[in-house]
Amino acid sequence: MHTTRVHSFSFNCMQPAKLSDIIGIINKIAPPALAEEWDNVGLQVGDPTAEVGRIMVALDPCPAAIEEAIHHSCHLLVTHHPLIFKPLKRISTADEAGKLIHRSISNRLAIASLHTNYDIADNGVNDLLAARLGLQGCRPLKVTARGELLKLVVFVPLSHQDALMDALLPYSGMPGTYADCSFRVSGLGTFTPLAGAHPFLGDVGKRETVEECRLEIMLRRSELQPALKALRGAHPYEEPAFDLIPLQNEGGVLGIGRIGELSSPVALEDFAGLVKERLGVSSLRLVGERGKRVSRVALCGGSGASLLRDAVRQGADLFVTGDIKYHEAREAESQGIAVIDAGHFATEKVMIEGLAAQLVGELARRRLEVAVMTCTGENDPFLVI
Ligand SMILES: [Zn+2]
Repeated sequence: MHTTRVHSFSFNCMQPAKLSDIIGIINKIAPPALAEEWDNVGLQVGDPTAEVGRIMVALDPCPAAIEEAIHHSCHLLVTHHPLIFKPLKRISTADEAGKLIHRSISNRLAIASLHTNYDIADNGVNDLLAARLGLQGCRPLKVTARGELLKLVVFVPLSHQDALMDALLPYSGMPGTYADCSFRVSGLGTFTPLAGAHPFLGDVGKRETVEECRLEIMLRRSELQPALKALRGAHPYEEPAFDLIPLQNEGGVLGIGRIGELSSPVALEDFAGLVKERLGVSSLRLVGERGKRVSRVALCGGSGASLLRDAVRQGADLFVTGDIKYHEAREAESQGIAVIDAGHFATEKVMIEGLAAQLVGELARRRLEVAVMTCTGENDPFLVI
């Protein structure tokens, strides 16, 4: 019998959450703009205005995960693989997708997915897999985008500085391992409300001088619109004064797959043993000499065969992925790169715990009262006998 783990936290002044709040968080963790063009990420089924008190994270929107989420009275199932890939012509319980959609709606369970956007995102599937396998100094195996950073500078009366900072900090983001970065300094602001204005402070036609705080945060361009919405929601002025400054700072490269180094070279066979243990698989497929020394490792969770040549070009000794076909294994042999195929399921299911932890962190930062559970009833569809 599996037990579903619940991640929860408790603060004073916790707020109830709407599905749209959670979608905002998911979009921050994995910006939809990063997704491949053929993908279908984001909300699959659900009412954005509905309240969400409990979330389950799973790899697939398969019947087992949906039933587990319903069993635990979850309001949202967050999956890696989308439920709807191709446009549907009908929602009928005679079709597999229709059956799952019908079952979810009947039980007030929303479904949202982060797929190729989460493969590419910082701290997404591939970074989680790289961390699990002990890779260091990781970078994208194939660069698909460059992160663009902005500075948001906003001027707010001292009385509202904390409320505004609480509203904006969830959107701050910069490359590296620090969150909630901001700077503020106080000074004097002036303004004269003109005819037709409805000022929060002062009178029409009279110049006002106010003690204000200059608050600065750095954010990714993908977070700009939700950050401005939060700014307008928390700022007392009719027309908040703010500056948006494009930055030349390195916003980090984004891309698919990862390549990094092991702390010390090991034999391929020994590393394969470590992969089995860390990914919890009883078997895997290996291409290459068992005794080959492995130091630089490329990887891609799921089906990564299309990145094999990128791994070769970047001098990887080994490529770890899933779904390798016979001719791709032959190509790897001829290119002199070792391959570990640990399966699609095992190389991606690291996202379940990883995403759950990220959701818990973002919910806590927003003081949203939502419990996060991890689905434990999913199994690899392939059995080894
Ligand atoms: Zn996948």
